[in-house]
Amino acid sequence: MAKLKTFQVCEIAKDTYAINEAGMAAMFLVVGEKRALLIDTGVGLTDLKSLIAQLTDLPYDVVLTHGHMDHVGGAAQFDQVYIHPADGAALSPIDYDAVADYVEKMIRFGATDVYDCSTQDIKRLTKMPEVKYLRDGMIFNLGGRILKVIETPGHTAGSCSLIDVRERILFSGDACNVNLLCMWESIETLLSGLRAIKAHEHEFDRNFNGHIGYAGMPMMISMPDSVLSDAIHICESILEGSAYIERGDAMGRPASVVTYGNVRICFDKDRLRNS
Ligand SMILES: [Zn+2]
Repeated sequence: MAKLKTFQVCEIAKDTYAINEAGMAAMFLVVGEKRALLIDTGVGLTDLKSLIAQLTDLPYDVVLTHGHMDHVGGAAQFDQVYIHPADGAALSPIDYDAVADYVEKMIRFGATDVYDCSTQDIKRLTKMPEVKYLRDGMIFNLGGRILKVIETPGHTAGSCSLIDVRERILFSGDACNVNLLCMWESIETLLSGLRAIKAHEHEFDRNFNGHIGYAGMPMMISMPDSVLSDAIHICESILEGSAYIERGDAMGRPASVVTYGNVRICFDKDRLRNS
């Protein structure tokens, strides 16, 4: 049976494109009147510049929601990227071996049932992009369209989300989704990041995260409405000591797991509070 190439593109709102890279990561291209913005760069299987040139001829900036290899893998295809300083080490340089390990894992999860790709497709570029830093409250003005940056730590120390003011979309990277990993920062930090999103809850209707169309399931839908409140409930119950904690795994490593509503949070039981 014929398979899909390394990406699928779906217009999720006017001039707003979700790019699903082989079921491994999602990127988003937001196009205004004068500029565009690419959110994340996937694992780097795809010639992103050619793909974006098919979608817009406007100049554009590139924002990385966080430093994990499945979001920065394609970053070296660009001259300049924005990332939060706390995650900046991910580009010095990009760990392509970690990208390859992740791609192999996703292939085992079924990505190549649907997509024609392999680790050979990873573009291992050595020249790293110039790095500019994201900060809370930063604005990207695309002309008739504004995107606001919110610092949403927890999944990583430097995780950021963006709000598309016109289309009322939250682009949350890996900071607020149904399978939330909090393995590297504390639950207290994750709760602070989720509360930062909560403070902007009235500004968005949809939440697109960094992994739509996971592995061999090529869907492009936003997160359920209850994800934010479910995730906050889980963090609060863990910190209060009232959560029912199970043992599980997060991408192959042992983790403590709490499930509530639509959300499952995997975390390190020795890293609940900051101090
Ligand atoms: Zn991540």
